This record gives sequence, structure tokens and C-alpha cells, in this order.
Amino acid sequence: MAKNSNKGGQSGQGKAAGHKECCSFCGRGRNEVEVLFQGANGANICNECIELGYTSLENNNLTTRKGGKSSKESSKTDFNPDTILKPQQIKEFLDNYVVGQDNAKRSIAVAVYNHYKRLKCASKGSEQVEIDKSNIILVGPTGTGKTLIARTIARLLGVPFTIVDATVLTQAGYVGEDVESILSRLYQASGYNLEATERGIVFIDEIDKIARKGDNPSITRDVSGEGVQQAMLKILEGTIVNVPPEGGRKHPEQKFVQVDTKNILFICGGAFDGIEKRIAQRLNTRAIGYGRVNTESIDRENLLKYVQPQDIKSFGLIPELVGRLPVITHLEPLSRQVLRNILTEPKNAIIRQYHQLFAMDGIELTFDNEALEYIVDKAIEFKLGARGLRSICEAVMKDLMFEAPSSDIKTFTVTKQYAKQKFEECASTLTK
Ligand code: ADP
Repeated sequence: MAKNSNKGGQSGQGKAAGHKECCSFCGRGRNEVEVLFQGANGANICNECIELGYTSLENNNLTTRKGGKSSKESSKTDFNPDTILKPQQIKEFLDNYVVGQDNAKRSIAVAVYNHYKRLKCASKGSEQVEIDKSNIILVGPTGTGKTLIARTIARLLGVPFTIVDATVLTQAGYVGEDVESILSRLYQASGYNLEATERGIVFIDEIDKIARKGDNPSITRDVSGEGVQQAMLKILEGTIVNVPPEGGRKHPEQKFVQVDTKNILFICGGAFDGIEKRIAQRLNTRAIGYGRVNTESIDRENLLKYVQPQDIKSFGLIPELVGRLPVITHLEPLSRQVLRNILTEPKNAIIRQYHQLFAMDGIELTFDNEALEYIVDKAIEFKLGARGLRSICEAVMKDLMFEAPSSDIKTFTVTKQYAKQKFEECASTLTK
């Protein structure tokens, strides 16, 4: 790797300056060292000086890679299962960042709590009853907070966390990433700390995209569907996996670390577009059209809340995989009120972020209620959901953020009229 970096470096710069190429730290010339890395403005560093610097960082626990512990990493490695929060406390923490979605937050809080009880049992020895893993599957439309919940949980627990996209995974031997790359990412997120990796949390997004394409898998080779699901089975259940530390495809000369996945919590998320029809069929109702409709208390506007493992199975996840995701929970579509709350309520709500940005320039920023309603209206109109709120706000605030720091204004109120004008200006430049 070192040599590649050298070749790829800004080799023109040193020569252009007309100096003898030497290490800017120890002064030795190119022919006296193995590798000379070139930086900006003609500065160079040799391999030996890099090694010296690295050793010094390691000795002072300042590295973020193998060996030493960085301060950022220490919270992940000093995990103590005796100090974990109760489900209600976990939910309260989630409430600070995730608006609504009570059902999902409760299920996750319980699953995570049980997961850490499992770790506690494991650390106490084998006489205890072994508690099964509680991997979770979150079903809900895109942009409703699945990733946000998983990310927030990881922040609370101080364990390594990684998000992987199931769509890039393919069966071994095909273009794409091996399933083991999921663990490589977690290992990297842990700062290359094996012990911390083995109790981390992995969020596998878009799990619905690896659903089996048809009922008969032998007709076409389904390299990104059933094959990947099969490969995932073992990892989800708990096994020792040879993981290439830097990710990528496995090959014979590669070095591996052995990661035990027994205590890694997997949270899978997916939109499962169209699953409502399967739920409706099961409930003996019809999602659309005429026919015999079960008029009992079924909420046909939100069939997702009745989702069961068999619906996930009929969508195309193999039964074994569904069996390894015992906690199934759904997310609600975001209502107007929830979108409005997302703007201002969470601890790091978008509007609060703007307040802070302007406060740093000594400007007190306020938003009229009508301006906020306008932003929500646009997000709904363009069917952008919560993700759209941010881009609409950016369009509204773009000019002000450019001009205000150089002006002498001390207060500014974003009115509906201002928001509308700026949003429309931005929209018209985009459509030109
Ligand atoms: P997905 O369900 O597709 O994983 P995300 O969790 O990535 O959706 O949500 C996208 C963005 O929308 C988040 O970064 C967050 O800002 C916002 N968001 C979505 N749902 C909520 C929610 N319930 N509470 C607060 N913010 C949310």
C-alpha cells in the first residue's frame, strides 16, 4: 500500500521546485530510504519517519487503528453490561431524536435490552439458561426513520455500529461484495478492535431487495437474492467467520481475522413495497377493488401494522432467514403533524441546527410558524417525506447563509413570504 501511495503521490511537485528530493523530517535523500511520500508544497516524508511517528502515537494511545485505543474508541471497548439502561430509558433516549414510531421504538428497546442481558449471561458462564438472539426486522416506507432508530441506538450503547446496504451483496464468486464484508465494516467501525466488534450492531438496509425473485429459484441464477440470504443465515445466527479486515473479495493469500458473530446484533430494515397486498390477502380482505371485505376493526389505511413473519416470507425472504429475525416491527407513514414535529422537536432538529449556525455569527434567527407549515406543505406536495425537509430548508436558507455572516444584522425572521420566494427562486433555477 505504501508503495502505491508513493507512485500515486504528487510526484511532480518536488521536481518542479528543483530541490534534491529528501525527507523533510530526517533530511535523508530518496536513494537513502525505501519509500519517500510526497505531500503538498514540496514536503516529503520517508517510511521510517512515518513508522517513528506511528509508534509515538501508539505509545500515547492516540491511534485509531489496530493496537492502541483512541479516546473515541474507548467508549466502545469499555462496555459494561451491568450498566445498561432499562427498556423505558432506552425509549426515552430514542424519543429525543426520533419523532413518533412508538411501536418500533418500544420493540427495539426491548430487543436491545434483552440482547445485552444475553451478553451478561454469556460473561457469567454457561450454567445460565442461554438466551436466544433477538435480531430485529423493521418494515416501513422509506424515510420514516428506520436508519435513524438504529443509528441512535448505537449512539446510546456506545458499541461499534455500521450500516450496510444489502443491494451490494452478491453470492460468492459474482461481481459485488461478499456477505462477510458486513463484518469487515463493523471491524473497521470498531477501530480494528476484535472484542468490541463481537458485540457490535449491524444495520442491514434494504433487506427486501434481496428477496427471492420468483417462486422457482432454479429457473434463473438469483445471485443477489436467495444465494445472499443463504450466506447471511450463518452470520445472523452466530458462527465464527473469517473476515478480511480491509473488506473486498476473499482470496487465498489474504489475512483474515476470526469474528464470532454470536453476540452481534443485526437490525434489518426494508420498505417491502407491496407487502400490504400480502397482508390483506392473509387478513382475508382486499387492499383495493371490490369484493368481500372483512368489515371488522381492520385499519385498511395502515395494513403494515399487522405484518407477520409469514408476510415477509411470502414477499421472498427464505423461511430460515425470517426465523433468525424474531423481532418484527413496523414503522408508520409520517403524518403531517409528525413532519412538522421533525422540523423542530428532535434534539438535533433541522431548525435547531440553523439557529445554532446563525448564533455562531451572533445572529438570532427565528422561523414564523407559517413558514414552517409552508416547508412541510412542500415536502408533502413533492412526496419527499422527512428527507425532503432538509433540502427544502436548504433552498430557503441558501442565500441568507451566504449573505448574513458578512452583514451587520443581529436578528432575522424567516416568514412564509420569504420562504416561498426563496424556494420558488431555487425551484425555477433547477427546472431551467
Ligand atoms: P429510512 O426509513 O429510509 O431508513 P431514515 O431513518 O434514513 O429513513 O430517515 C431519513 C431522514 O429523515 C433522517 O435522517 C431524519 O432526519 C428524518 N426522519 C425520518 N423519520 C424521522 C422520525 N420519525 N423522526 C425524526 N426524524 C426522522
